[in-house]
Amino acid sequence: MMAKTPWVEREECIGCGACVDVCPEVFQLDDDDKSECYNPTGAPDEEIQKAIDDCPTQCIHWRE
Ligand code: SF4
Repeated sequence: MMAKTPWVEREECIGCGACVDVCPEVFQLDDDDKSECYNPTGAPDEEIQKAIDDCPTQCIHWRE
């Protein structure tokens, strides 16, 4: 079974950094201050889910 992994809908990201605060093992801001999912399996699902829940524009999604 494949693990589900997160992805960022880049156009909707406002670069607030909330996901990086919650889950720096998975998300980082790129040179354009957009969140980049640089390590999709870097944290437990629960921690990634918290980043998803905290995103103000709800632009982080699961890919199953
Ligand atoms: S929490 Fe959402 S809007 Fe903020 S940087 Fe992360 S993906 Fe972008």
